[in-house]
Amino acid sequence: MNIVDPIQPHVLHSEEKDNRLIRAAYRRLFRAIGDNQLQPEDKAQIRQAFEFAAKAHSQQRRKSGEPYITHPLEVARICYEEMGLGPTAVIAALLHDTVEDTPVELEDVNRDFGPKIAKIVDGLTKLDGLYNVESPQAENFKKVLSTLVEDVRVVLIKMADRLHNLRTIDIMPRHKQLKIAAETSYIYAPLAHRLGLYNLKSEFTDLCMKITEPDLYHELEEKLKHTQKDRNKFINDFIKPLKIELDKLHIPYKIYGRPKTISSISNKIKTKKVAFEEIYDLFAVRIILDVPLEKEKSACWLFYSIVTDVHRPIPERLKDWITTPKSNGYESLHTTVIGPGGRYVEVQIRTKRMDEIAEKGFAAHWKYKEVNSLQSVYDHWFDSIRDVLETPHNDAIEFLNDFKANLYGEEVYVYTPKGDMKVLPKGATVLDFAFSIHTDVGYHATAFKINNKLVPMGHALESGDQIQIIINKNQKPTEDWLKLVVTGKARSRIRTALKEEQRKLADQGKEILERKLKNSKLEFDDNIDVLVKVLNCKTRFDLFLAIAEEKIDVTESLRLFNIEKGKLIEKKADIGEEKDIPGKTVPIPVEQRVGILVNGEPAKQYNYTLAHCCNPLHGDEIFAYVATNSGLRIHRSNCPNAEHLMVNHGYRILKAEWSDMIEEAFNAELLIIGIDDGPGVIERLSHHISTKLGVNITSFSIQAHQGTFEGKIGLIVNSKTHLNHIIRALSQIDGISSVRRIDH
Ligand code: MN
Repeated sequence: MNIVDPIQPHVLHSEEKDNRLIRAAYRRLFRAIGDNQLQPEDKAQIRQAFEFAAKAHSQQRRKSGEPYITHPLEVARICYEEMGLGPTAVIAALLHDTVEDTPVELEDVNRDFGPKIAKIVDGLTKLDGLYNVESPQAENFKKVLSTLVEDVRVVLIKMADRLHNLRTIDIMPRHKQLKIAAETSYIYAPLAHRLGLYNLKSEFTDLCMKITEPDLYHELEEKLKHTQKDRNKFINDFIKPLKIELDKLHIPYKIYGRPKTISSISNKIKTKKVAFEEIYDLFAVRIILDVPLEKEKSACWLFYSIVTDVHRPIPERLKDWITTPKSNGYESLHTTVIGPGGRYVEVQIRTKRMDEIAEKGFAAHWKYKEVNSLQSVYDHWFDSIRDVLETPHNDAIEFLNDFKANLYGEEVYVYTPKGDMKVLPKGATVLDFAFSIHTDVGYHATAFKINNKLVPMGHALESGDQIQIIINKNQKPTEDWLKLVVTGKARSRIRTALKEEQRKLADQGKEILERKLKNSKLEFDDNIDVLVKVLNCKTRFDLFLAIAEEKIDVTESLRLFNIEKGKLIEKKADIGEEKDIPGKTVPIPVEQRVGILVNGEPAKQYNYTLAHCCNPLHGDEIFAYVATNSGLRIHRSNCPNAEHLMVNHGYRILKAEWSDMIEEAFNAELLIIGIDDGPGVIERLSHHISTKLGVNITSFSIQAHQGTFEGKIGLIVNSKTHLNHIIRALSQIDGISSVRRIDH
């Protein structure tokens, strides 16, 4: 994606101001690389790349009006300073948009900077080109991955490019912001995570949340600011007694409290269903030791023992990623202890080297690769990507489903009967394990024993398990197996086997059909397509398969047709309605179709509906989606389906907003939690809602549980403001402890 505008002749830009901006960006880059880690010839080449790019982009501006070259300068700085990449990446970053956006040819880059740089720039140009085609994002993800295994740097520079564009996205129109946010959380945030670039991943996620859920984002931002003083005091109280003891060790270290990101706090609120005020661990305390490599492990454990002497630990919360690092290379010792006031505090203990790896991920691995075999950590993962890439898939979405499970998440460490260790994603089953050993082992696996006890095929592995596989040559995969595995490799292998099986079946189905048509004196070629269409099959293959599986009876089906001159003619048109995205919709009565603007125009001229998956309210952030056969559908920007729609059908997204002048009726649902003091509270609630607030209740269900109750109430409200007003009013009723809107 490029934020580029040709220079508008009627807009006057002061040359002096331009030069000032360029100089500032240039200085920021050179201050970052100013340390003496770079060779003079590297610096000279970086300067040359700047001049080359500045000349190429001299006629372009960013949407913000700044000279375009400020963008590559900033991307280069991010690569070096924030991601820890080397001079080659800096040079390629400076040149990254030249071939795509300017008359510069790849040949020119090759001539001036050599084949190594040219190849990276070429890779970046190709990745960039993807965003201009309207192909589903899953396809893009696949290409990003192919690029990744070829040269990681291309993808890392692309991430720096994306980060700068996101940091300066305010200037873009809203619908583009949404699309970029969706792409980022779909592709780049998970990849950054998997590559161990934790800082980058956090910033991606926060910037995306700022776009898709601005209200919540700013609310949490405010609350964090508000509570900072208390938090600082608590952290000081926690650290003070610790420092006294740690200082006695005479090992250089740093200790500080580190706030959690806004998106991770929001996640916690959503998944744990707690209020901001109830989240105690808004920060983690981090201790970073400065010790030589050979003393790392013992020093970390020494610090651990002091920490747990001073503050009482919760033993189950100990995580030792020093003895066994995560598969993205993360090393650290985590423990949770009970701090002042009984509050839980997570303490992370690691060395400077481990910290750099955790912050800069892949690039830091590169730097330390001589000292240990960390590189192989990635090699292993890249091999598994290649593996999935090489398996034939029906479409990119299927590919991605196979792949995505392995991007996030933790791992388990398990053993073969011989004691070889295998690392699998958490949640992986014994069947996954079989496929990780060998495809044939997977295909023929019939029974599993863990520590000598039989377990079912879908049994989830736990670290330390030793697994024995019993094989039977007659065994073969079935459709059900897909539900028993989580790894991409196992899934794609099972699919391949099922497809092979299906192909054989379809051949049989085809034979049956050919025979029956022949009996009715019908030519196969003349009639096959009308059969596929009328019988609601997607393809000929599907029809053959359905026949072989006896889901379609040919003789029965032929009764739907008249035969005229050797051709089947459908008796009456009965074509199934086109199915659209998941989620039912609630049509709005015509008289209420006011109040939404699409691309600035009243939406009532379109046939629009509010999506039922997210029930948008007046005041919610929304967008419009052009449904294939039923006009527009209005979704909330944070709707669970939104990401899928934006990444796969971005070209169908239109900007939508509420206009202010109307009173409309919307469905909303509230979750109310309170103390159960008999029938009184329910009465008070419903009385308050219908009489005092004058709001119509559409549904009401309540469940009591050990002295508390949980009520779900459906309401008709006018707007988000109206709903918030109701929430505030209800929260103040005696015995009610929390009132929340339910997001589906
Ligand atoms: Mn760019």
